[in-house]
Amino acid sequence: MNLSIQSKMPDLQFSVFAVISQLSERHRAVNLSQGFPDFNPDPALVQLVSENLKQGKNQYAPMPGILPLRQALAEKIEKLYGATYDPESEITVTAGATEALYAAITATVHSGDEVIIFEPFYDAYPPVVQYAGGKPIFIPLQPPNFSIPWQRVKQAVSKRTRLIILNSPHNPTGSLLGKNDLAQLAGITDGTSILIISDEVYEHIIFDGRAHVSLASYPELRERSFVISSFGKTFHTTGWKVGYCAAPKPLTDEFRKIHQFITYAVNTPVQWVYAAFLQQDQSYLQLGDFYQSKRDLFARLLENSRFKLLPCHGTYFQLTDYGAISDLPDFEFVERLIKEHGVAAIPLSPFYSQPTHQKIIRFCFAKKDETLQQAAERLCRI
Ligand code: PMP
Ligand code: GLN
Repeated sequence: MNLSIQSKMPDLQFSVFAVISQLSERHRAVNLSQGFPDFNPDPALVQLVSENLKQGKNQYAPMPGILPLRQALAEKIEKLYGATYDPESEITVTAGATEALYAAITATVHSGDEVIIFEPFYDAYPPVVQYAGGKPIFIPLQPPNFSIPWQRVKQAVSKRTRLIILNSPHNPTGSLLGKNDLAQLAGITDGTSILIISDEVYEHIIFDGRAHVSLASYPELRERSFVISSFGKTFHTTGWKVGYCAAPKPLTDEFRKIHQFITYAVNTPVQWVYAAFLQQDQSYLQLGDFYQSKRDLFARLLENSRFKLLPCHGTYFQLTDYGAISDLPDFEFVERLIKEHGVAAIPLSPFYSQPTHQKIIRFCFAKKDETLQQAAERLCRI
């Protein structure tokens, strides 16, 4: 009997984050690869989880999420971005932003539909589009600023364009969308049925006095957008895997048809905790300053190294050019870095649809100062 299955995704590899994390662990490297903090969340947050467990918040949450959390999110979005979402019918709590991205893409993309994706891209987008039968149309962003070439977007739009996927602050480049970008996008999508997914998981990790420009804040764009975010980045709780999607009712109705059969509902006690914690806006409004000092510390520590840092305006990722050190392709360079120098980073090429020859890798600086110091000492010796 042949029990091998015919792969639905024959060309797909395991995610670079899974591969590099494993390698990093095997070699006990200082891990600046996958994006997660190596420090704990606020103890009050952990205490609240324990209280909610004891209070019996242990059974299924409602399918779209507990209402107090959706209400707290609606209030937060209104306060920060001036946009109104009905918590009953327009906000859905998901198992991380990953599930929200999957649900939004599968709810909207039909066979043969085109989806505009900017590269470098967060690695979850293209496989899900392809799995849904869609065709990614890749538009490259150029270093060092990685800004969107709107003229190229205009040319790429066709009758088959179903979705445009945006990500700001942008993983892995740390670039940001500005008001002018949204005006361009509004012009291009006006009069079309193109929908937008806006991945805003790093919305509070933004530096140098800049402000996050949410798609929610632009009424014409809000009407056609799934705005997705994640509590994991905001509260240093990536392992709790809770995120959400805000979208107008007709979009949310379709989104929930997918969500209900991926997870049905999400971790109940953690939803109660976030609902309570969102009342204290200082916890997320100070996040930019917190990570800006880590970005600046890491840059100072690498000043005497041969790595060249690219601009970073948001997220907790620092792109660095290693061209002065080696001619190796990025994946091999990262393997050497882990095995010979004991520091793990993420190569940039998995964020592209085609092989690239850039000598750029990504470091995560969401780490204790001691971890950054230890990594930098090793990096400066190279
Ligand atoms: N989008 C981007 C741009 C990310 O970097 C990540 C992961 N960190 C996600 C989505 C997934 O978020 P989550 O961990 O909440 O699923
Ligand atoms: N978003 C995280 C990163 O970019 C990783 C999340 C994951 O492992 N899927 O590093």
